[in-house]
Amino acid sequence: MAYPSQALLDKLATMLGPKGFTRDPADLAPWETDWRGRYHGKAAALLSPASAEEAAAIVRLCAAQAVQLVPQGGNTSMVGGATPDGSGSALIVSMRRLNRIRSLDAAAGVAVCEAGVILSDLHSAALAAGRRFPLSLGAKGSATIGGLVSTNAGGTQVLRFGPMRSLVLGIEAVLPDGSLFEGLAALKKDNRGYDLKQLLIGAEGTLGLVTAASLKLVPAIGERAVAWIGLKSAEAAMALLRRLEGALGDAVESFELVPRSALELVLRHVPGTRAPLAEPAPWNALVEAVSPAGMPAPKLHEALGGALEAGLVADAAIASSEAQAQDLWRLRDSISEAEKKDGPAAKHDISVAVEQMAGFMTEAAAAVEARFPGTRVNAFGHLGDGNVHFNVRAPEGAGADWVDGEGGAVSAYVHDLVTQAGGSISAEHGIGQMKLAELARLGDPARLGALRAIKRALDPANIMNPGKLVPPFDLAQDGLAQNHLPS
Ligand SMILES: Cc1cc2nc3c(=O)[nH]c(=O)nc-3n(C[C@H](O)[C@H](O)[C@H](O)COP(=O)(O)OP(=O)(O)OC[C@H]3O[C@@H](n4cnc5c(N)ncnc54)[C@H](O)[C@@H]3O)c2cc1C
Repeated sequence: MAYPSQALLDKLATMLGPKGFTRDPADLAPWETDWRGRYHGKAAALLSPASAEEAAAIVRLCAAQAVQLVPQGGNTSMVGGATPDGSGSALIVSMRRLNRIRSLDAAAGVAVCEAGVILSDLHSAALAAGRRFPLSLGAKGSATIGGLVSTNAGGTQVLRFGPMRSLVLGIEAVLPDGSLFEGLAALKKDNRGYDLKQLLIGAEGTLGLVTAASLKLVPAIGERAVAWIGLKSAEAAMALLRRLEGALGDAVESFELVPRSALELVLRHVPGTRAPLAEPAPWNALVEAVSPAGMPAPKLHEALGGALEAGLVADAAIASSEAQAQDLWRLRDSISEAEKKDGPAAKHDISVAVEQMAGFMTEAAAAVEARFPGTRVNAFGHLGDGNVHFNVRAPEGAGADWVDGEGGAVSAYVHDLVTQAGGSISAEHGIGQMKLAELARLGDPARLGALRAIKRALDPANIMNPGKLVPPFDLAQDGLAQNHLPS
């Protein structure tokens, strides 16, 4: 770890100008803490390049002095991925000024976006051209393309379109030696060996700075049907999903599971929300089925009628207007925000094989609540992807320090259960700093060895987002707070 010299800071300040360089503590403060308010770091300066060339120049200058860089987009990471450590030696590189949509070719279905483009801005631009970018999540008003690429983000349409990895057609990035990888060409076939683009997707800024990406667009939605469905169990939700897929095929675009506890949190903490069903159900599914313009409307009503008759569904509300559809989605999208307002929780973003998830959730929730009396499991999310946010709320009255106390033991227990079930401790949020020790504890040796070897090969001086994603060899000896070269 090297502190940036005054000469280096002066050079960067001159190169980037007042819009691109600041050391003012008030400017830095919002970006030194993560979205959840769990990680508080310190940076020597905030750098905001306005072009890929400026980004490359920053990396070259810093690499020469082994000064560490923390890439940052919208700072909505759920795992402390974009927060520097507390040493004050690293420089935050904010990509938010690189916010141009360089091109949008509706016919080809390709948008070339700079890293700082906000997801909802891309949604609007695609829509204006009769297309859409089929990835959305609760943080869409702040999350950036660079952050979404770097975390291989998922969201609510993975069921049909896959995560970012399936939607990125090309990447432009500055590698840790300052060279610019110009891989934006949207090649359908390219067998020139290791796929650098795929390595950078989900690398959490540890292998370089993503400056732009070519992204896949799909036809705009002609018609969509959105329904909120009351169910008796998570197993019934899974059976309903398979039934709807049988009736509607890939028109089923989202299938989100919401337990009663999550809905109650939203109704309590998010102004303007109201219960979608007359009688609360123990489980709910939010379903969206779509058809492109010119295609027959999705037959969601008919399929749900059949499920009601078969006793699979307790009750259902189908949105009759776009405003109602948005209200139903708001209930789902506000769960994280409502949970945050309600109090401390140990958060887990887990996956197991899709068909296993309903049973896993039920059994794991009972096991956790029995082992840690007073805790309340709030598991919700992307059931159709085998991925839920298995969050465990602290016992009533617990303070914020619960998360680092008993919450740590709860997390280790949940991760053990997931690992025993052959699942993943990070389905879509990444590892960041939050899950680094758990990845080291539970990752199999082959996976960890390959992660470290790739990091060492591309970033031998460990300047790119140190202390994130790649566990060092000996955690006990090195200590997690240190920035260290994975040796
Ligand atoms: C309310 C809420 C809901 C969410 N829902 C979901 C969800 O459903 N699915 C999901 O997957 N995630 C979700 N997230 C997590 C978060 O939004 C995603 O991880 C998102 O991709 C982060 O984008 P960002 O621009 O904010 O990145 P940041 O938080 O700024 O950074 C995230 C990581 O990417 C790195 N990074 C950022 N930009 C670059 C770049 N240009 N080049 C290299 N590295 C970079 C950072 O160093 C960090 O490691 C949610 C977050 C919130 C707050």
